Formats: sequence, C-alpha cells, structure tokens
Amino acid sequence: SLDTERAALEFAVTRNAAAKSSAERDELLREPAFGTVFTDHTVGISWTEDAGWHDARVQPYGPISLDPAAAVLHYGQEIFEGIKAYRHADGSVYTFRPDQNARRLQRSAHRLALPELPAEYFLQSLRELIAVDGGWVPSGADQSLYLRPFMYAAEAFLGVRPARHVEYALIASPVGAYFKGGAKPVSIWLSEDYARAGKGGTGAAKTGGNYAASLLPQAEASAQGCDQVVFLDHDRNVEELGGMNVVFVFKDGTIVTPKSDSILEGITRRSLLELAAARGHQVRERAISIDEWRQGVASGDIVEVFACGTAAVVAPIGALKGHDFTDEQPSGTLALQLREELTDIQYGRRGDAHGWLYRL
Ligand code: PMP
Repeated sequence: SLDTERAALEFAVTRNAAAKSSAERDELLREPAFGTVFTDHTVGISWTEDAGWHDARVQPYGPISLDPAAAVLHYGQEIFEGIKAYRHADGSVYTFRPDQNARRLQRSAHRLALPELPAEYFLQSLRELIAVDGGWVPSGADQSLYLRPFMYAAEAFLGVRPARHVEYALIASPVGAYFKGGAKPVSIWLSEDYARAGKGGTGAAKTGGNYAASLLPQAEASAQGCDQVVFLDHDRNVEELGGMNVVFVFKDGTIVTPKSDSILEGITRRSLLELAAARGHQVRERAISIDEWRQGVASGDIVEVFACGTAAVVAPIGALKGHDFTDEQPSGTLALQLREELTDIQYGRRGDAHGWLYRL
C-alpha cells in the first residue's frame, strides 16, 4: 500500500529570479524537441544515513555541484523515472498513475541499494514542481510536461559500497508529439550480439547503466537503417526495446507480452493491457521466443505487434530486421485504438473509469 500516512515534508521554496517570461515560455512551448527544454525550477530532497530524508526544497533550475569523487560518477549508483503531466481543457493539470511510478522507483532503489523514497514524498515532489512551474504544462495536441525524477549517490567516497549521502531530484521538460504526423510504424533491429540485461542483473530497474548498455546496439540499429533495437534474453526469448515494452496481438484476439524478471515493467503496457482486457481480450504475460514471433508473423497467427512507453505511448512495429532477414510486420488497428483510449483518459477527453488520474 502507498505510505501516504507519512507526515508531509516541508519544502523551502526559492523562486528563480531569472524565470522565463510567459512570452519566452510560450515560444519554447510551441514545438519543443524531446528533452531539450527545461522549466524554471527543480525539486531536491537530500538523504543521509544519519538524518534520513531532509532538506526538501524547490530551487531555480541550474547545474548541480558534485564532488568529483561522488559515487554516481564512478559506480553508476543511480535510478530514475519518467512520467507526464497533462493539461485538460479546463486548464487543470493531471498526472497518470503516479503511485505506479513511486513504487517502481522504490523497486529500482532496492536493486541499486539506494534508499526508498516514501511514495508520499514522491507525489509531493510532483505537486511542488507543478505549483511553481505549472505554466510549463503545454496545452497543444499531444503535448505534455515530461517529469524526470531521479536519485543518485552523492557521497564522495571511492570505496565500493552503498553511498551514505544520496540526492533525489525532479526536473521537467515540455514535450510535443513523439511522432510528428501521427504514430507511424517503427522498424526494429534484432540485437543478436548484445544483451541489455541478464538473469539476476538490473534489467527490471530503471537505472542509467541499462541505458548506457543499450547505446551501442542502438547505434548498430541506426546503422542498419532501423529506428529501435529489440533485445533477447539468454534463451532467445523477446525482452523489450531500449526504452519501450513490446506487445503481440494474435489472430484469436489474445494479447501476449513478455514475462521476464529482466525487463522494465512499463506502466503504459500495464494500462493498455488493462484496457484491452476490459474490451474482452485475453491477456497473457508469458515467454515468447524470437522463433515464435517470426513464425507467428509468417503463418498469420500474429496480426499486430507494437511497442509502448510513456514517451511515445504506442508505436506500431512495421518491420523486424536481423543479420540475414527482414520480416514485414502485419498492420492492425488495435494498437491505435488502445492508444486513443489511453490518451483520451490522460487528457481528460474521456471519463477516468479506472481512477488513474491524479490532480497536481
Ligand atoms: N522499457 C524500458 C527499458 C523503458 O525505458 C521504458 C520507459 N520507461 C519502458 C519499457 C516503458 O515504461 P513506461 O510505460 O512506464 O514508460
């Protein structure tokens, strides 16, 4: 259960004297490229082994001062989250299933031997940032404010052990439609030479090292003319893309998505599958091998394949390419129907029947 009982933190607020004017901000909000524009403020909460969580603050956006011996720079003790704030037609601002992100951050913290941020502090950090930077939540079609909570080992110590001084922080970046001109099918490169995660490793945690490990295979994908890379596990079962989960739709309406201890459990995937189940689809979390994928497409048993995640929401997969093959993927309509249903909920165009929205 969410530890919302916990007493709220007291945030010290320091306003950014150099905050953008609303005219400058509106200009930046017009067509922001993903992850390039940041709001006027950040939230920080410090943690030390002795004092626990303390020094909660809202402060001007700016560089972090870090000791060169800070453990994060050497041993990668770091985790993060990704969640969006949406502006509704009446001007109010909501986020989507933040309890899920709070819990996932706690699971990531556990795996990386970082302190678990109480869920209530996580929610408070989102509310505090929107309280000062709410004007940065854009109102254009498919626009949102991408929120990036993260936590890192700040202790200056070169010994390999969990840091005793850790910082939690939240930054925010307005984003537009991930795919200009609608969700067009993406091409996927099958990574045969590189894995993203291993059994017992950190694959299920949202930690920087997983993304560092995905960069070289992603570069290989780009060199092969593909948009994204898909990873397999040691037994040649499908895992996920570098930053999205993958979902298969079968001819009989069954929906299959990989079950694995080494993938990131996406909140978009969970939500889409819950919407699909409500429409009467059978939903199965089970291992699916690359051979089953390729044969299923060849035989017509698999009728649609798509990727999903917070940033892009849903991306139909148009082609799968390997060293010696290219399989065109069948195109269906379920992915885009589910995408519409989900984004209608997120943007308040449809009732929130599942209680997924959280007002910021
Ligand atoms: N897998 C990976 C590796 C990711 O980075 C993401 C994005 N957070 C996802 C899956 C999708 O997760 P979510 O739907 O919660 O954004």
